Amino acid sequence: MVPTADRRVRIYEVGPRDGLQNESRPIPTADKLRFIELLAVAGLTEIEATSFVRPSAIPQLADADEIVPALGRRDTVRYPVLVPNERGMARAEAAGADALAVFTAASDAFTEHNIGMTITESLVAFQPVLDRAASLGWWRRAYVSTAFGCPYAGAIKPAAAIEIGLRLAALGVEEICFGDTIGVAIPDQVEELAGLAIAAGMAPGRIAFHFHDTRGTALANVAAGLRAGIRTFDASTGGTGGCPYAPGAAGNLATEDLVYFLDASGWTHGVRLDGILEAARFIAGALDRPLASKVGQAGGWDPGTGAATGLPAVIRPIVTP
Ligand code: MG
Repeated sequence: MVPTADRRVRIYEVGPRDGLQNESRPIPTADKLRFIELLAVAGLTEIEATSFVRPSAIPQLADADEIVPALGRRDTVRYPVLVPNERGMARAEAAGADALAVFTAASDAFTEHNIGMTITESLVAFQPVLDRAASLGWWRRAYVSTAFGCPYAGAIKPAAAIEIGLRLAALGVEEICFGDTIGVAIPDQVEELAGLAIAAGMAPGRIAFHFHDTRGTALANVAAGLRAGIRTFDASTGGTGGCPYAPGAAGNLATEDLVYFLDASGWTHGVRLDGILEAARFIAGALDRPLASKVGQAGGWDPGTGAATGLPAVIRPIVTP
């Protein structure tokens, strides 16, 4: 058992950005702002708000220039934005952002398909963005996508992902997030990657994991990350963000599933499950589809009464065996 003082986990919410970017139904700007506000009310302190990629590339997030200035900012909440290049950085700066995330991958095949550059070219392109952000005092995160597997190159060796992580660390980012972009990782691989990254000199506090539940392994992978000493995990409220490489399959780990798991396991994180479920229902309504998450459907569970928690009041059906 991990000592009590160490039982604190950071939940990095990606719903408004990574969650919505793959959703085809256009969401009004006001609804996105309401979603972000509900997430903050639920206790999340890191909410990736939007993306400054080219609007034609991701039409769903084309309103980034309107979202950032309209955020009901709280002193206790960080609102990073995704920035792909200097043009995106100029827009983010003009909008009033103060934290960013950049993204590359662990396989050249993926970056070439996704952003038209090799990994090395992407790192060269980041440098002026990260330097500018540093001069402005912004918090900076970098994603390493396809850290476990690539839809074009297949299995990725941990050493390949770690090498990119180390190069990003050398660029000065505060946090490196390894992403299981297509949802193929299993717990043994997560423990191996975390252990090797730490052995290679990456501080556990600078490492985050971004799991997808595409094949049902996301929470098991979180448990493996925790065993390996990692304390930051990404999640998307409502389980939004299907997987573009597996149409119809689950995508991002749902925040409500993560919160239930952490609560039941005795980890502290400051996020209220009922608040997340309210935000999840809100965004599912805006998307006009049922909630994809397990806990979104079943609710939490009160071990004292045996009742589900966080669900709207309903008349209980008679259950027969
Ligand atoms: Mg994702």
